[in-house]
Amino acid sequence: MIAEIIAVGTELLMGQIANTNAQFIAKKLSELGIDHYIQTVVGDNPQRLMKVTAQAESRADILIFTGGLGPTRDDLTKQTIAEYLAEPLIIDKAGKAHIMETFKGRVMTDNNKAMALRFENGISFPNVVGQAVGTAIQKNDRTYILLPGPPSEMTAMFQHYVVDYLLSMEQAQLRLNSRYLHYFGIGESQLAATIDDFIMEQTNPSIAIYFGDYAVTVRLTAAGPDEAENEDKLDELSKELNQRLGEYYYGQGEGLGLNQVLVSYLKDQNKTIAFAESFTGGLAAKKLVDVPGASAVLNGSAVTYTGEAKHHVLGVKQETLDTVGMVSPGTAIQMAEGARKLYNSDIAISFTGVAGPDPMEGKDVGTVYIGIAEKGKETRVLQPNLRGRRENIQYRSVYTAYFDVLK
Ligand code: ATP
Ligand code: MG
Repeated sequence: MIAEIIAVGTELLMGQIANTNAQFIAKKLSELGIDHYIQTVVGDNPQRLMKVTAQAESRADILIFTGGLGPTRDDLTKQTIAEYLAEPLIIDKAGKAHIMETFKGRVMTDNNKAMALRFENGISFPNVVGQAVGTAIQKNDRTYILLPGPPSEMTAMFQHYVVDYLLSMEQAQLRLNSRYLHYFGIGESQLAATIDDFIMEQTNPSIAIYFGDYAVTVRLTAAGPDEAENEDKLDELSKELNQRLGEYYYGQGEGLGLNQVLVSYLKDQNKTIAFAESFTGGLAAKKLVDVPGASAVLNGSAVTYTGEAKHHVLGVKQETLDTVGMVSPGTAIQMAEGARKLYNSDIAISFTGVAGPDPMEGKDVGTVYIGIAEKGKETRVLQPNLRGRRENIQYRSVYTAYFDVLK
């Protein structure tokens, strides 16, 4: 937003007084961050006031007038601007009551009442020091603010009312655009450390990091009047961040989960998936079924908890179970390949491990093997290093598998 100050008063023009109002307002505008390039001084003359108003309108969004709100014949700012804008003036009730109070029974002339005028379709600013009310109106994407001339009145009005008014206008003009970037396999603090220099420097877009649902989300928010410009800023910063974090990145969008990304990925690739689950108890299937449209990609899931079930349902060799045990890379491979056959899918993922709280087969809590069998590829085994509670180990295992398929 650009503001322009128009000081009205022949005594200013003649050099009889210094334009301290303009100085005060200019300082406030710069504190508020509102651009301001030109000031004008014009005498108490309606034609010339209209002329400078027309000029200011071509350059600025906010026109701030000071002077000429008083009761004398030469105080014509309100009437002139009202006529110029073809906007009616009315008596402001509170302003009139305030003026009457100060007159305390003395006869009030029409001139005095005129000090209570405001734009009918605008707002008024009370005068806590003197009598003339200030007023403002918005029309044709411009804002016209009329303030009294006496510095003590003008500054008090500005501080008490105009600052808030300008701030609310600026906020209404501001557009906020956010982008949510999601990362898996990196902790919140490690991520923050990796992009620390950006976090320290950046104010627009701002950067917020939070942890949720086993992934880290970075929210970027750009603020500015132009949404396209905001989006450009977000594009640029996202790109820079992903130059460092790309290996952990899985997608963007508010609340986007790895399960959603996996479903759309499989759809795009025209591939189906199946699971063989032990300690995850069906979680891998459940998180995919949570996504609408999962039926297009998920064939089935076998929850095989005992060795016997793994053997009978998935065809894991008894010998493997007897020698290396249920929690082993060998069992993970056979479970995955068994599930792929059973469900006739392009990909099958198996989960076998120790979710705790007690060790099993002499293996520590958190020992996890994930088998990934894929058509035309050698079956691979992931062994993520997991710690924490049972649920944490289950979730992290499922998401580790999802993420691996995407890579
Ligand atoms: P009043 O009710 O006193 O007539 P007004 O709003 O009509 O107030 P003016 O008549 O233009 O304002 O000016 C009143 C007095 O305020 C001036 O004589 C001058 O002392 C002071 N003043 C006006 N404009 C300015 C200015 N831009 N900078 C500093 N002082 C000003
Ligand atoms: Mg006056």
